Amino acid sequence: MRAVVTGGAGFIGSHLCERLIHENYDVVCVDNFLTSDPDNVAHLADDPHFRLMHRDISQGLDVPGPVDAVFHLASPASPADYLRLPLETLRVGSAGTWHALDLAAAKGARFLLSSTSESYGDPLIHPQPESYWGHVNPVGPRSVYDEAKRFGEALTMAYRRNRGVDAKIVRIFNTFGPRMRADDGRAIPNFIGQALRGEPITVTGDGSQTRSLCYVDDLIEGLLRMQASDHGGPVNLGNPHEVSMLELAQWISKLTRATSEITLIPRPDDDPERRRPDITVARELLGWEPVTPVEQGLCDTITYFRRQLVSGDFAEGRHRPLSSSPIPQTRS
Ligand code: NAD
Ligand code: UDP
Repeated sequence: MRAVVTGGAGFIGSHLCERLIHENYDVVCVDNFLTSDPDNVAHLADDPHFRLMHRDISQGLDVPGPVDAVFHLASPASPADYLRLPLETLRVGSAGTWHALDLAAAKGARFLLSSTSESYGDPLIHPQPESYWGHVNPVGPRSVYDEAKRFGEALTMAYRRNRGVDAKIVRIFNTFGPRMRADDGRAIPNFIGQALRGEPITVTGDGSQTRSLCYVDDLIEGLLRMQASDHGGPVNLGNPHEVSMLELAQWISKLTRATSEITLIPRPDDDPERRRPDITVARELLGWEPVTPVEQGLCDTITYFRRQLVSGDFAEGRHRPLSSSPIPQTRS
């Protein structure tokens, strides 16, 4: 089996590449390192079952040879990233998804779109089942991500219905773990980095807004099960374990034994109030549910960031300029 993973050098993508190789796939990782560090896949560079292609998939996606599965993950994912890269985000969600679907159609490959809980916007129904159509501001700052993903979902369903592609959609809820970028701006890397550096932990608003947190290994298992199933979805993948951001900050502070204080900063526009997946469909269709306790996942993630801190990678809250990272050699 041969799989293409777009965005394969990213946080989730790099774990997926590793797992696919473990499952005896040959993996083609396609990435332009827009929001990731090549270090994420440097350890795979010498594996004969891994090939890295440095490409912007918004410009096209041509992969020679047979392909059995396309996992389409390429897209900025952190709000800080997609707000600074709005056009790139819209382009990869539209043209990039189109190219990835065309590749799947041309190769007769299965296709999986990594969509998002942001498809529900700031939801009025809680928890969110797949049948909920969402509450998205189509012209707000987050729309560059939300609407790009919703367009990607529509495109995926059109290829499934009209082009006979075995295409499917998962809606991923907040996922965390090692290899998140220390400076990606999301709550977990921010809180851990601030706690480890002894800086104030920045919670937005009054911290009462919630998210539900899934450890990356559990998510990867869900992606593989969905890819192997005959269902088109969409299927929610996430952990129903819901916490407020203030509770999360206090939890991380305790686990890191931080001396940092918690400071309240302004809430971004259109920041969703509550988010929790209804995972009945994933349980029934895929036999999937998260098994990693959130606290264990947080401890593993803290250990990862602590190592980064010791090696100096994010000592000042910044990894390194993304564009300056050396790109591992591509095997052809
Ligand atoms: P990430 O930013 O770490 O990874 C995204 C990867 O896509 C990066 O390696 C980036 O360089 C690459 N990329 C972006 N534009 C590209 C382009 N035009 N051509 C080639 N590569 C490109 O983010 P992540 O958290 O690993 O998210 C991966 C996917 O999962 C995204 O599609 C995201 O929308 C989805 N998702 C993630 C979460 C989460 O909590 N992490 C939640 C919902 C959905
Ligand atoms: N957040 C926070 N402090 C930070 C970064 C984020 O309190 O330093 C909040 C953010 O406003 C949101 C929640 O944490 O309410 C989750 O944000 P994140 O960017 O991790 O993910 P998303 O909004 O995409 O769910």
